[in-house]
Amino acid sequence: MRRKRTSKWSNSRLNTYQNCPKQYKFKYIEKGNTEEFLSISIIVGSVFHNVIEKMYKDFYLKGIIPLEEVLEYFETEWKRKLLKEEKKKKEIVFFANIKDIAVYKKYSLDCVKRYYEKFYITGLETDFDSCKTEEIVEPFFFDDEGEQIQFQGFIDRFDIKGDVLTIVDYKTSRQAPSDRFIDKAFTQLYLYALGVKSQERFKNIKTIKLKLIYPFPGIILEREVDDDSINETKQHYIDILRELKSDKKFLQTPGFGCVSCGYRRICPEFRSIYRLKEKRDDLVIKDVANMVDKLVLLKQKISSIEKEVNEIKESILHNKDEFLDGELEGRFVLPGAETGSELVVNIEKVRKLPDSKDAMREVMVQELIKKGFWEEIATLNSISVNPKIKNNTYSRELMDFLSDYIYEDQESSRVTVRKSKKN
Ligand code: SF4
Repeated sequence: MRRKRTSKWSNSRLNTYQNCPKQYKFKYIEKGNTEEFLSISIIVGSVFHNVIEKMYKDFYLKGIIPLEEVLEYFETEWKRKLLKEEKKKKEIVFFANIKDIAVYKKYSLDCVKRYYEKFYITGLETDFDSCKTEEIVEPFFFDDEGEQIQFQGFIDRFDIKGDVLTIVDYKTSRQAPSDRFIDKAFTQLYLYALGVKSQERFKNIKTIKLKLIYPFPGIILEREVDDDSINETKQHYIDILRELKSDKKFLQTPGFGCVSCGYRRICPEFRSIYRLKEKRDDLVIKDVANMVDKLVLLKQKISSIEKEVNEIKESILHNKDEFLDGELEGRFVLPGAETGSELVVNIEKVRKLPDSKDAMREVMVQELIKKGFWEEIATLNSISVNPKIKNNTYSRELMDFLSDYIYEDQESSRVTVRKSKKN
């Protein structure tokens, strides 16, 4: 089914914003940008959805469709979809390690076959009085300022049995979401439930259920809609919209999604890379690329020098007993042989918090947050924290708390270079 772009909000539109504001800007704000790339997973999912839609279309007239017919339809749909994207001149993006399109076709087909065998022919997903596929819903609600927010969405399928309506969504991912991500997976369906609730034709419906079907692993996740979850869903979308409407920059947030982002060629994150690769006589980008290389080499030199500096400092500190006259802390000066400079070494015993290599640090951070001290401490950078601990400048409550984690008598050293003092 062809889905037209509307001016109403949609779950996928707001997801795009959450994933990358720049991608949102390219797609929904700026006019005339075309998507040049298309993820193979979109083709896999789209063909699967079309085939399943056929299995339920006019179900009450036709009943179960034979497998041969379903497989034949899959073949036609797969070809049609590829041809359509070819005409739009979209480059299909594969996952890094598998470039063979036959593998993805087989995966999409496996999803169809598994669905057919586990959920369709068994009657598990045909046990209803009536069903409808690709149904448009237009949920709306009001934000805190009383402004109406209108959405549009497409329900893959909804079934009615007695006074129960079930909203079904198919997912072609390899796995169902882990516990941490289940709520997020259902959010869109709660929104659709809101759209269903407001319709006069469903006034006799007493219960709305939600179902996410993952045919590849053969898993169905279910929820029942209640007022609390609907209210949470509204708030979820209100929060995203508030952020979106006040966004002035729409900065890119590069991540995993960039691989298949249709706007990579115009995105500031990648466009200069394409420019260098494709515009061979573009001297500006070539000059810049040479400068970048120079900078990279200089940075590498700096870090190797820094490493050498640290090794020398460590070696001097290793020999500190030679110069401290048996004391555990103190200050001494070491002359340079020919540079006219000298090294000033300060060693003292201080109280320190666990550092980043210490497992207790994470325990302490969690407790700091839990007990509401985080704002006061603000940073765990040792340069700013350790002097405050030494001088007791934190509140008494925070110092009491930190005292459980502080290590006493930890060595702290400072090594600085200065011009030699003339004798
Ligand atoms: S390429 Fe990545 S960073 Fe750029 S717009 Fe697309 S998703 Fe965002």
